Amino acid sequence: MDLDIRKYYSTKFRDTAKSGLTPDDYIEYYKYIKDRYGVDIDFFENAPDTLVCDPVTSLNRVVQVRAVKMHLKDAKSNLTRAINDKNKKEIKVCSDIIVDLEKTVHNFAEEDKRWAGRKFPLPNLKPGDLDKILSDNIPENFCLFPFTQMNIDPDGRVRPCCKWAITTERNAENFSIDSLVNKNVQELFDQPYVEEVKKQFLRGEKPKACKACWDEEDSGLESIRVMEQDGGKRFPIATWFHHIPTDAPRSLDLKLSSICNNKCRICSPFLSSKWLQEHEDLGSVKEDVLKVYRLNAKEKFMTNPENIEILKHWAPKIRKIQFFGGEPLLQAEHNLILKTIVEEGNAENTILYYNTNGSIYDDEICKYWESFGHVNLNYSIDDIGKRFDYERHPAKYVEVMDNVRKYNEYVFTDDRVRDKLITSKKYFNRFYYNGTGSMLSAEGMKQRGMKISMINRFYITIGVFNIYYLDEILNELITRYNFPLQFNPVHFPQHYAPHILPNKLKDIIKKKLTEPTFVEKMNNKYIICDASRTQNVNEEINNIINFMYSSPENPGLIKEALRTIKIHDDYRNESFGEVFPEIYEFLKEYE
Ligand code: SF4
Repeated sequence: MDLDIRKYYSTKFRDTAKSGLTPDDYIEYYKYIKDRYGVDIDFFENAPDTLVCDPVTSLNRVVQVRAVKMHLKDAKSNLTRAINDKNKKEIKVCSDIIVDLEKTVHNFAEEDKRWAGRKFPLPNLKPGDLDKILSDNIPENFCLFPFTQMNIDPDGRVRPCCKWAITTERNAENFSIDSLVNKNVQELFDQPYVEEVKKQFLRGEKPKACKACWDEEDSGLESIRVMEQDGGKRFPIATWFHHIPTDAPRSLDLKLSSICNNKCRICSPFLSSKWLQEHEDLGSVKEDVLKVYRLNAKEKFMTNPENIEILKHWAPKIRKIQFFGGEPLLQAEHNLILKTIVEEGNAENTILYYNTNGSIYDDEICKYWESFGHVNLNYSIDDIGKRFDYERHPAKYVEVMDNVRKYNEYVFTDDRVRDKLITSKKYFNRFYYNGTGSMLSAEGMKQRGMKISMINRFYITIGVFNIYYLDEILNELITRYNFPLQFNPVHFPQHYAPHILPNKLKDIIKKKLTEPTFVEKMNNKYIICDASRTQNVNEEINNIINFMYSSPENPGLIKEALRTIKIHDDYRNESFGEVFPEIYEFLKEYE
């Protein structure tokens, strides 16, 4: 771990990036990047002359060198004269001057060697002048995540991001064998395979484990690599001088454990301890796999005292923490992490993201949230009424919606503001966004009547169980709360993905979702899809319809879905056919 040297560069270049850069700073930086990552970087190779200078041939330097050489020539002729005159005192003075000047000439020659062929920024550039050059030198496929983020999975393994492919074959190319079980978080942030990935990105390569991003980008979608500061190009100075030499993650993406109180049909024992019990009882999973699931159900981060100290050291630099499942609001480590950031870090400039099942309401957590910049609370609400109760067993729709209401009541200091936000598109827009369309600062939100600057969102995972009812679900949720929405199509388990459904059912679903009265209602409702992007809900529905038709119906997977459903129906004493009669009618022939 070369923590000290990274700390040194991190501080040095953060400061120089603000206060003006000198050729020596760049020389050091090139050397650092070359030593650490084994890559050459030449920011200024093709930079316009108006922005850069070549120290060796620049006018100032030529004049300087000429002056020194002239003085040296004069000193030498003075020395000759002093020797002829046998003037000992003068000989000493001239000799000393000559030694000094020759040293200067030698230094110039050495610098010429170091700087040969390099260009550097002119002193006193205006802010932003260098951005274009720096941006152009960020490699084409560059991604910030390996430099800035740490994703921890429930089994304690670490990846740069949640899209990084997990493979069973663990090697430098794919995945590391280390985890929270045998390493502290600093060792995991610095582990060799991540260092290798950083080098690949700096060389402009496309790591194979990033396939999800390359595939999404090839099909025209915006990958999370691009969403994250446009692959580092949006703030190029910060990318080069702040993020790359970092000694601590800026962002934590945490699935701390699988501790959860729900066993949602689309989830698994990998992500839910409640599911684990059911699989143990059913004897449907092999003992060695159960061992992994049991490990997932244990908290492993803050139980290591070294990690507590490291988190304190990281805390001032952390700007974003994402807490995903199990159920983060149930996990003791979650509260400990918030406490550490509040006490040791920069909470007012830190944004929190949650996926919560909505079953927990906790005043103590609200108190912590008051200290943070923004809190994004995504409620996983895939359905309504008894279908919700079935899909997210044993949570109850009525209780979850009551918690949504309680959080909303806690957050607002003024009930009238809250109610207006829920009913008025125009007001919602005005409340959350400033004049230029960016999200209002935490301070701004608080001034407008919030105790916690919070964005609530309904996170709807769409699969076999609920796609038929999407019109009904949206009608209900939108009527009750004017929250932003996010749709998340099910990819896994494959047998619950919406595209496996019979074609005749898909056609009926499409008809329902494109029915003119429904479309008009959705057009008239205010829906946004993420914190910075507004989109009409109908566009998102069309994407879901396209996804549903992206693969042909799959009788084998429909059978698998029904077989799995039956096993768990029998265990839970539930009935798919009774709760979902409309779609069961189309599926029962596959039993
Ligand atoms: S390119 Fe994509 S998969 Fe790879 S590290 Fe970046 S965000 Fe993750």
